[in-house]
Amino acid sequence: MSVSMEADIKTTPKGFHCSLCNVNIPNQPSLEQHVKGRKHQTLSTVRCTRKSQEERSVFVSGLKPNISNTDLAEYFHRFGPVVDVIMDKNKGVYAIVQFDEIDGMNTALSCVEHRLKGLKLRVKPREKKEFKLIPKKKNDFQNLQEVFDRLKPELCQLGSVNAQILYMVERFQLGDNEKKARSLVIQLLQEVFVEFFPDSKIIPFGSSVNTFGIHSCDLDLFLDLENTKVFQAHAKANFEQAGEGMSDDGRSEDSILSDIDLSTASAAEVLDLVAVILKRCVPNVDKVHVVSTARLPVVKFHHKELNLHGDITLNNRLAVRNTRFLQLCSGAEERLRHLVYTVRLWAKQKQLAGNPSGGGPLLNNYALTLLVIFYLQNCDPPVLPTVDQLKHMACEEEECVIEDWDCTFPTQAIAVPASKNTQDLCGLLAGFFSFYAKFEFTTSVISLRTGQSVPTETFLKKADEAMQEDSTSKHHHGGPKIGPMNILDPFELSHNVAGNLNDRTARSFQKECQEAEKYCRSLQYQSKSSKGKSWGLVRLLTPHGEVQQARAELFTISIPFKSDVLPEDLRNQQHIAKEAFSLLWFQRVCAVIESIFQNVLKCQLVSAPEVFDAGEDMDSQNSSLDDSGFSVDSSLEFGPNIGVKRPLSSGSDDSVSPHGKKPRLSKRGRTTLSPWLWEQRHVVWAGRRKVRRELIKDSEAKAEGSCVALETQVTSHITEKEPELKEVLQFKLQPQVVGATESTSTLLKFQPIQDSVGVFQDFFHFLEVFLPKMVETMLLNRMDNV
Ligand code: ATP
Ligand code: MG
Repeated sequence: MSVSMEADIKTTPKGFHCSLCNVNIPNQPSLEQHVKGRKHQTLSTVRCTRKSQEERSVFVSGLKPNISNTDLAEYFHRFGPVVDVIMDKNKGVYAIVQFDEIDGMNTALSCVEHRLKGLKLRVKPREKKEFKLIPKKKNDFQNLQEVFDRLKPELCQLGSVNAQILYMVERFQLGDNEKKARSLVIQLLQEVFVEFFPDSKIIPFGSSVNTFGIHSCDLDLFLDLENTKVFQAHAKANFEQAGEGMSDDGRSEDSILSDIDLSTASAAEVLDLVAVILKRCVPNVDKVHVVSTARLPVVKFHHKELNLHGDITLNNRLAVRNTRFLQLCSGAEERLRHLVYTVRLWAKQKQLAGNPSGGGPLLNNYALTLLVIFYLQNCDPPVLPTVDQLKHMACEEEECVIEDWDCTFPTQAIAVPASKNTQDLCGLLAGFFSFYAKFEFTTSVISLRTGQSVPTETFLKKADEAMQEDSTSKHHHGGPKIGPMNILDPFELSHNVAGNLNDRTARSFQKECQEAEKYCRSLQYQSKSSKGKSWGLVRLLTPHGEVQQARAELFTISIPFKSDVLPEDLRNQQHIAKEAFSLLWFQRVCAVIESIFQNVLKCQLVSAPEVFDAGEDMDSQNSSLDDSGFSVDSSLEFGPNIGVKRPLSSGSDDSVSPHGKKPRLSKRGRTTLSPWLWEQRHVVWAGRRKVRRELIKDSEAKAEGSCVALETQVTSHITEKEPELKEVLQFKLQPQVVGATESTSTLLKFQPIQDSVGVFQDFFHFLEVFLPKMVETMLLNRMDNV
């Protein structure tokens, strides 16, 4: 590492911190990667360039607006070649003049008086500023989070969950002015595009118009070139008939269209053209770029004045139609809108939805909305009709087929009979969570057409049969992509709108639904807190991180004291020595725990506990300790072989105290060891039962955790056969002893430190059963050896 790089990196209790890039780095290998990485390298280069510029620049003040960059450049040129002059934003107050070489700067600084256009200029060395990374503008999610945080106190003041939902929607939804501003942008684009693409139409779809839009939502637009194609075909025919340079209305000659034949041009070519038009001809637009890798290629742009991000797609009639469908449902049933806003916000807070820049393994808003509609179709009595039922409510003129898919439904919401379901929003929201908490996502396909879920196998068989019988284009693309969550688009029946989800997101979605279901059953959800605490929607919509923190408290396993693991003579004395026995037993438990993680479960030890830290827990590790690390607040002496110093399981006896110091129970009757930090690279908890069965085959069956050698073998088998986790799981484990003698137990507090793959909970659930049994087995084994 270079000297300047070292200065950027600081060691922290959690690893390292790079002050240049403002990031935390957990360990040495990641640090090495970070330092070699693009971000760090680019920032280092930028900093170097800035520094060298600073060293060759002077700061000039005392200017007036009549002095231009050129005036300054000309004036300072007499001291040496000038490479740049940067004026302040208001022009004419100060400027930075950058010389090509340091000599130019020195000469300018040594000149006693500077006069230009009758003004006396002040020339100073440029101030050396510390190079700092300016954080990027907050993304929509952070904005959303901020808005929600500000709303919290107001929400808690309201009297019911219904009122909270209505209030929240009111604050998030697109206002009338925003809608107006959006339609003006659409109008402007329409006017420009029609110049280049005669008879073309710009049609908005998505959240700007589907009644579920929030303040920062993007502007989805469909550029309909169907009529332009017709126009072009006519023009071409006329041209061939009438000879060169002529057309029926003269529009095509100076049109950009003369450069492109829409009947043969690829979507990419047309989109490139759209991008050029946006860049050159639409005022106030920037950040124009084509994304051709998306499911539907798109031109992205940004409207500066409105700070509005927009997408223009071609061939997107189905999306326009499904937007109409959402509008219809919303018009037919007011509660849908409120539920969709709430579920969208909940999913965002729990990091289940909101793929950055479109792609990614999370749910998108359209898929979430379909999940809400499907649930409402399944309420008793139903809140919304199925899509097939809607089709039958439509009249003949409303029939609509797009790309061979039947997209028929009534135009007006009035055609849909009102629901007989009278549940309120509070109840319906709770119902949503319990509906999906037990839903069989992996084995079924959700169909909004029928309002039913179909077992995946049956669905695939039927799709296969349909394909054999019907050769229309709708079956050309084959069936939908079956994945961990299958939500069939209600119109494009070969499309799974949740096809982008990975196992983890699908699992998290269900887990979060289960958590939310549990919470919705509690008093905290249903009734206002009299003590001003978070309640109702506020708790439900608490971001993932905060819940995770609260949940960390829940990751505790208790190992109850059992006297039969002590040698008989000690057992007889336990009532006399009381807490001494608790500590003795605790130390033995800690020693076997270390051995279980290290040897049986093959975890890597990152850092070990160094001290006994009486009465403190994971969050406060700076308690006052004597040099042995034991807190002293009692006078009970221990025998020479009692006490723990790392490593816990070293030596023939695992309870050796190197100094014979005196560990004590704190006044609160607790002793806490500082935490271990462990890493696990393998799914050692997955499929153990099966491996165990294979390993012991016909020999005597053994229960989980009853044999150390066997469990070690099971782990080895898994680590050899199963692929490593994509990213290592890192977790803290802090043991604590509570209670005295018979009521003593060891509490093992776990906390995920790095769990980007999202496996910690699975590992923990396995440990809940496995550890107590394994500890007992090992303690008994060790006692046999005493
Ligand atoms: P937001 O932009 O606020 O996230 P949105 O509803 O506009 O919400 P987008 O991802 O911008 O969502 O998509 C715009 C529209 O395109 C959707 O409303 C829907 O009509 C259609 N759409 C999006 N994703 C899909 C999909 N996977 N399948 C079918 N149609 C989709
Ligand atoms: Mg959108």
